[in-house]
Amino acid sequence: MRKVMLITGGSRGIGAATARLAVVEGYAVCINYHQQSASAEALVAEIKAAGGEAIALQANIAVDAEVEQLFKAIDRYFGRIDVLVNNAGILEPQMRLEQMDSARLQRVFATNVFGSFACAREAVKRMSSDNGGQGGVIINLSSIAAKLGAPAEYIDYAAAKGAIDSMTLGLAKEVASQGIRVNAVRPGVIDTEIHASGGEPDRVARVSASVPMGRGGSAQEVAEAIIWLASDKASYASGALLDISGGR
Ligand code: NDP
Repeated sequence: MRKVMLITGGSRGIGAATARLAVVEGYAVCINYHQQSASAEALVAEIKAAGGEAIALQANIAVDAEVEQLFKAIDRYFGRIDVLVNNAGILEPQMRLEQMDSARLQRVFATNVFGSFACAREAVKRMSSDNGGQGGVIINLSSIAAKLGAPAEYIDYAAAKGAIDSMTLGLAKEVASQGIRVNAVRPGVIDTEIHASGGEPDRVARVSASVPMGRGGSAQEVAEAIIWLASDKASYASGALLDISGGR
């Protein structure tokens, strides 16, 4: 039976690139999305047409009960989960700290932090050898913003990704003896639609000059690192924060 990979926010951007590569590696993929069902269904159709196995699962990962339902759906459909890619994430429009209200902070932390924690919790319950599971791998999408701080753009987002780094370090130690590896990738500026939601669709072009390699990255370049971390080739990697940022 194929290994099963859940990719939260797997319908667009880095998540979709990860799904495409995962299918080539032989995984069955669960493509979670929040609102844009058309993108998720189109990706599932593309994967199936190429002979792969995929399902689209709607759930807002910021809502605990929806995360529980998401994992129960995977239990019913596949009866196993081998890899969780905690990829769903949001940006809010660029602004300085003194303009940020608490509603914004709640939204940013609810999806980027609490959602990732909830998905990790449900995955650990199922993967842990202490619970009769077969072990597994969790890969968290952090950001190089956790290191740089994103001043005058979105330090709330950067701080949320800092929390993901800490969670990666702690959880990796907590579950290492239960057969679960936990790692994070920290992408730099990657060409996806997330920058439009931050209010600057052309951000990649503007920021490119400050990247030592002189360009933004592609979703596929991040996906390659995720797929390596998921694989047995990374069998001794846990608690790693892997920068995929063009040297930034
Ligand atoms: P995109 O904006 O291109 O895609 C976001 C995906 O997440 C979509 O599938 C979206 O679903 C889904 N999503 C958003 N909110 C939720 C939610 N509450 N519940 C479930 N799904 C949700 O993002 P990217 O591919 O650019 O980013 C992926 C990850 O990589 C994020 O964690 C981001 O922070 C991180 N990252 C990205 C960088 C970049 O430069 N692009 C740099 C560093 C880190 P729907 O289509 O339904 O809205």
